[in-house]
Amino acid sequence: ARVELMKMEKMEIVSQLAASISHEIRNPLTVVKGFIQLLQTRPMPRETEERYIRIASEEVERAEAIIHDYLTFAKPAPKKTEPIDVAVELQRVIQMIQPLAHMHSIEISSSLKHGVVIGNVQYFQQCFLNLAKNSIEAMPDGGRLHISAHRQGGAVVITIVDNGIGMTKEQVRRFGEPYFSTKEKGTGLGTMVAVKIIEQMGGTWTIESAVQKGTTLTVTLPAGRVQPPASEQSAAG
Ligand code: ADP
Ligand code: MG
Repeated sequence: ARVELMKMEKMEIVSQLAASISHEIRNPLTVVKGFIQLLQTRPMPRETEERYIRIASEEVERAEAIIHDYLTFAKPAPKKTEPIDVAVELQRVIQMIQPLAHMHSIEISSSLKHGVVIGNVQYFQQCFLNLAKNSIEAMPDGGRLHISAHRQGGAVVITIVDNGIGMTKEQVRRFGEPYFSTKEKGTGLGTMVAVKIIEQMGGTWTIESAVQKGTTLTVTLPAGRVQPPASEQSAAG
């Protein structure tokens, strides 16, 4: 019964995540709608008109950022769990963030050993995309991002290391808290989504960070066993 309860809790986290997106983007959309309505009250000073347009487009950008933090990889049925090869999927994430890293003169290096975890592959990618993006954003004047993965006992350990602005103790404590952001245009949702996905996979995370030195994030996920093909399963009885 305990195993079943755990399963239910995991499912709940998944549907919570899916449900909160519509809630999150409703706010900026309401603002956009309001300003479009205001823009219909003509005549109005040119300056006012420009201000309204600016606010409306900023809110559209905000909705976009929220969608990015939540479901860059989302597919219509994201609940499927399967064996995930962490080396392959982290390599995909690295490929995705390469242009952003390049733009900020950030060099990405990696050491990815093959390891399997069980989860939803879209969520896995979303999680590490959000974490890697934060590392890049922590190095506005360039730096180095290192991503590694290796097996350790019954777990797969993934580290994301940057030499960026780092975090204070307070910021480390609030990591994963919804809406907590130190960025001008931050959503404060990226780490919340990442932490939920890690927990959903039965994993844990730790942060080591020093202001102006950088941050090391360590994510430990239970290693999954690859299912043998159906024929072998039945042969084994
Ligand atoms: P956002 O990126 O929109 O601010 P997140 O939830 O992704 O929201 O991150 C929350 C906050 O955590 C960031 O604003 C930043 O202060 C801090 N943070 C997360 N990762 C790092 C990192 N690698 N280096 C420094 N600060 C970080
Ligand atoms: Mg972020």
